[in-house]
Amino acid sequence: MSKGYAALTAEAPLEPFSFERRSLRDSDVALDILFAGICHSDIHQVRQEWGPSLFPMVPGHEIVGRVTAIGSSVSKFAVGDLIGVGVFIDSCRKCPQCLSGLQQYCVEGMTGTYNTLERDGSSVAYGGYSDSFVIDEGYAVTVPETLPLEGVAPLMCAGVTLYSPLKHWKAGPGTRVAVMGLGGLGHMGVKFAHALGAHVTVLSHSEGKRADALAMGADAFVVMNSDAAFAGLANSFDLILNTVSANLELTKYLNLLDVDGTLVVIGLPTQPYTVGAGTLLGKRRSIGGSMIGGIPELQEMLDFCGKHNIVSEVEVIAADYINTAYDRTVASDVKYRFVIDASTF
Ligand code: NAP
Ligand code: ZN
Ligand code: ZN
Repeated sequence: MSKGYAALTAEAPLEPFSFERRSLRDSDVALDILFAGICHSDIHQVRQEWGPSLFPMVPGHEIVGRVTAIGSSVSKFAVGDLIGVGVFIDSCRKCPQCLSGLQQYCVEGMTGTYNTLERDGSSVAYGGYSDSFVIDEGYAVTVPETLPLEGVAPLMCAGVTLYSPLKHWKAGPGTRVAVMGLGGLGHMGVKFAHALGAHVTVLSHSEGKRADALAMGADAFVVMNSDAAFAGLANSFDLILNTVSANLELTKYLNLLDVDGTLVVIGLPTQPYTVGAGTLLGKRRSIGGSMIGGIPELQEMLDFCGKHNIVSEVEVIAADYINTAYDRTVASDVKYRFVIDASTF
């Protein structure tokens, strides 16, 4: 029996929940979860902010744990290995995206870690707010033994979600990067952009995060609470990574891009964005989007973190603090990721 926490409805607080994980298939590994991060996407889904959800829901897609058993055909992992599980647990495995390691963009749709049915069409996928997990070895990655594990869990979603667009849009020395929102995702963007050699500016609405942002490697920190703040940064970035979870006026931020700059949509608010056409064509600006990262990129990101000693800044909590952590995250009062100690389930 697995012990965890679940939302039984969109309105009720999460509560203790016991359930069975599937028995091990040939290509499966079982793990004891050590830490599980709380992503804002968990909150969006529990609260049905993206449409109807599947209840009971055990959220959690930032998982780090140790392998306790392996199926008969497993070759990638051994008992005792430290592994990570992220935002998806399966995909079709045969489309061009799956074959090129971009499983998150699978033509049939990736199979999420929770709030969905597995590919058999009937088993409910339960996520990482629990003490154990079972996953096909192809969808787990190796975690470097050298990093503090509570700070590793958030890399599995927040980390790769910022690493991927920075690599795709080739951030490096000479690139002027801005990160909108210094939350779980945003703070990883600052660390990665800095490690890649880019010039990093944080665009925040929380003055109290200034010192932390600079300590994480930001070169500048601007509170975007006035027209003067926007005017002062007009045409000054090559790449803007928008991690804000709330609805906001995108055109004001697009004006901060220089010629040929790109604003990448990463946060997933409830309302569509309105965009001024003149703002785009006047400087050949682009809007892009980016969703997590595939399995090869997850491994590449973890290896990069091992080499550069990068982890998430976390507040470790016990399971009975999850509901408070949700409220604090929504209030932008998280420094900078809540991570559940799985021994407390
Ligand atoms: P988070 O920790 O809550 O961080 C979001 C940050 O946005 C806040 O810390 C805050 O930063 C800023 N913010 C919040 N409300 C705001 C408001 N009303 N006005 C301006 N700024 C505001 O959330 P997260 O876990 O990083 O996730 C961020 C978003 O990304 C969520 O929508 C989530 O669902 C989405 N997401 C997308 C992907 C993907 O693959 N694309 C993956 C994971 C998550 P400041 O205090 O610095 O302003
Ligand atoms: Zn996430
Ligand atoms: Zn596929």
